[in-house]
Amino acid sequence: MAKIIYSEKFEKYTYGANHPFRLDRGRLFLNSAARLSLIKDDDILGTGTGSEEDIRLFHTEEYTEILKRANSGEIEAEFLQYGIGLPDNPVFRGIFDVALLHTSMAKDAFLNFENTDRIFVPVGGLHHAMRNRAAGFCYINDAGILIELLLRAGKRVFYIDIDAHHGDGIQSGFYDNPNILKMSFHESGKTLFPFGGFEDETGSGDGKYYNLNIPLNCYADDEIFLFLFKNIFVPIIEEFNPDVTVAQIGVDMMSTDPLTHLRLTNNSYTEAVRIIRDKSKRLIAFGGGGYNPDNISKGYTLAWAVLNDVETDDYYSATLGGTFMGSQELSVSGLKDMNLFVSGPEKEIATKEAERILYYYKENIFPFYGIK
Ligand SMILES: [Zn+2]
Repeated sequence: MAKIIYSEKFEKYTYGANHPFRLDRGRLFLNSAARLSLIKDDDILGTGTGSEEDIRLFHTEEYTEILKRANSGEIEAEFLQYGIGLPDNPVFRGIFDVALLHTSMAKDAFLNFENTDRIFVPVGGLHHAMRNRAAGFCYINDAGILIELLLRAGKRVFYIDIDAHHGDGIQSGFYDNPNILKMSFHESGKTLFPFGGFEDETGSGDGKYYNLNIPLNCYADDEIFLFLFKNIFVPIIEEFNPDVTVAQIGVDMMSTDPLTHLRLTNNSYTEAVRIIRDKSKRLIAFGGGGYNPDNISKGYTLAWAVLNDVETDDYYSATLGGTFMGSQELSVSGLKDMNLFVSGPEKEIATKEAERILYYYKENIFPFYGIK
């Protein structure tokens, strides 16, 4: 029922020794899931069907040509205006080969989604890539390519993004399109790249109210995230009633992520993935970001368990499991973080802000969807 789309070829490439985005992140997950016997050989679909033509479904001709030219690893001055050759998005050898790998996975997800209810693409969800520019460690917008394929097939798509960073490449790529509802939960643009994604960026033209942002203050914890997630994601996806859900389930909202400032654990993350699963007829989930290797292996394994309907224990009891060692170590619930309670003035400020955001939704967005 659930399948993984992955290629070992990713492990041959690197953005550079000190770059936080690890292209071997899929391997961290596969090893962890294998230790718990959560993967069978035929769970992994190979890739290889994506082409340059598929890249051009989302990206411009000129940007595609720049990526091709950069494949040798030699930098040219012209690349900079396309965001390539900067510290976040360095030129590296095989840059276009990697772009084709991502494209292949998006294409294979498209070719398989009607006979596979749930698909996980651990290396992907490069939500900052713009149609004509690289940004935020992303060169190719694989989710954007997949969404273009789904829209051309007449599907109604819900894009849900729980990566700590705002999904700005998806937002700007489909800002006026009402056939794809874009919803991003993220750390506020007041404190984190890409410094946008505010609640009043709601779409334009026919796409008005089909672009929804839910920014979280730094120090927001599991409780605050789930409060907003349950009160906003659930009623809106029920009303929109998509044919397929595309999710970006980055693991960088966790308190132990080195690049972000939220205070979540993988308990609320797992709960959110479970809710996304339950509300989706068909689901294609990309791994997204996350810069703590431990969070990658544990978070993706928990997500994969959820996609397979393997019990991860409920939210509160599971955190107990995480504190035990020994036999608990080799169980799915043993992957869960210890609970983390934030208190004090930071929590109060983050809670007030969450209440303000929900009020904004009740006033401005829910009436459009007929939600009381
Ligand atoms: Zn991120």
